[in-house]
Amino acid sequence: MAIHVFNTLTRKKEVYEPVRADMTGFYVCGPTVYDYFHIGNARPFIVFDVIRRYLIYRGYNVRYVMNLTDIDDKIIRRANEEGVSTDVIAQRYINAFFEDIQKLGVRPADVYPRATQHVQDIIDLIQKLFDRGFAYESGGDVFFDVSKFPNYARLSGKKIDELMSGARIAVDERKRNPLDFVLWKASKPGEPKWESPWGPGRPGWHIECSVMSMKYLGDTFDFHAGGMDLIFPHHENEIAQSQAATGGDFAHYWLHNGFLDIHGEKMAKSLGNFITARQLAERYRTAAIRLFFLQKHYRSPIDFTEEAMDAASASVVRLATSYQRFAEAAGDAAPILEPEPRFSSEAATSFWHALEALRREALELMDDDFNTPAVTGKIFDLVRETNRFFERGIQNEEDRRLLATARSVLDEFDSFMGIIERTAAATVEAEKIDRIVQILLQLRQRFRQEKNYALADEIRAQLGEAGVVVEDTPKGPVWRWKN
Ligand SMILES: [Zn+2]
Repeated sequence: MAIHVFNTLTRKKEVYEPVRADMTGFYVCGPTVYDYFHIGNARPFIVFDVIRRYLIYRGYNVRYVMNLTDIDDKIIRRANEEGVSTDVIAQRYINAFFEDIQKLGVRPADVYPRATQHVQDIIDLIQKLFDRGFAYESGGDVFFDVSKFPNYARLSGKKIDELMSGARIAVDERKRNPLDFVLWKASKPGEPKWESPWGPGRPGWHIECSVMSMKYLGDTFDFHAGGMDLIFPHHENEIAQSQAATGGDFAHYWLHNGFLDIHGEKMAKSLGNFITARQLAERYRTAAIRLFFLQKHYRSPIDFTEEAMDAASASVVRLATSYQRFAEAAGDAAPILEPEPRFSSEAATSFWHALEALRREALELMDDDFNTPAVTGKIFDLVRETNRFFERGIQNEEDRRLLATARSVLDEFDSFMGIIERTAAATVEAEKIDRIVQILLQLRQRFRQEKNYALADEIRAQLGEAGVVVEDTPKGPVWRWKN
């Protein structure tokens, strides 16, 4: 089945058709490095990491580019406050950015171009816009002339007239048209500056993304992604600049993630509910943070609460411990790959069919605009089915191979979801939990032998409240997590 993506540009789901056969270009707007990034910004990093990984899983050779905005008003302000150079601020928060995305389980991009290292490329593109009549200079600043670009505001679907009469647009005497935006900013005294044909200054923010995406992915490429707040004006302006400069297509598919609220409110420093990704990662495990975000569709709004994070944490611990038990019981048995295997028992046949169906359904859901919440449901269904199979007792090589098959399907899903912990820490934790539950089960057995059924039942009931289900089998008690 083909991959369908919701394209903001056309406002509908479209079949993904690669621009070129040898490479899938994917550009995501990266951070402005003046501070630690907050959990709202963590969302695009995680969801587009999953979409990128899924495209790779589906066989596409993805080249993933994310810019680092290392010169900007906010960086200059921060540098002035601290009495250091903008480079010091930028480098500090670039380092922090890399540490933080690692804690979110986000795979590094193939390229992280920095604005200050591409100033000549930016000047060249602005010059091209000048030559083609799309740019004008005014008092050392250079602006893009929106009136020269007929398709302006196609991405946001806004009407030019409405935009023009919009009261929010501040009047700027230097602009020919209120919608015109800056390509090159003249430097004020004491600000970092680069020489240009229009005098000393620095690049505007929008032009930076046009230059760096086209430099590393070609003039026309596949995906351009970012938060919904970037649709207008940032992405709108990127399209205008890029298409005006090349005369051809820019990105084909525009993906935008929804907003994040905190307890139903907007996150803002003034409201005192501001949480950085760094603070989040100190409190919660990587897999739990990812699960929290992936339980919602990337385009939907998401509400952050501690309760939701605690629930996600409990879920990922259960997932890791279940995975560990299946993997251990499977040992070195090989997964079953043949299309129509024959089994010796009804239970084995129906378990294999359940695995097959879950795998197929999960991939169809990912193909449908990356429906990670539904895929998460399938992962937990798969664990439930495997637990049920596990409980009847693992007796022979066929059973072990079926467990190995379940493990391999989970591995497949997790190659793009990244919510199953397999680290040494997760293993140690899973073993510890198993050991503690086994001690309690042994105690329960002893109470039963002593005919102290009240205490034996009490242990079972208390374990039940902690989410542990105990089943008595001919080989003794076994336990699993309640689903
Ligand atoms: Zn951008």
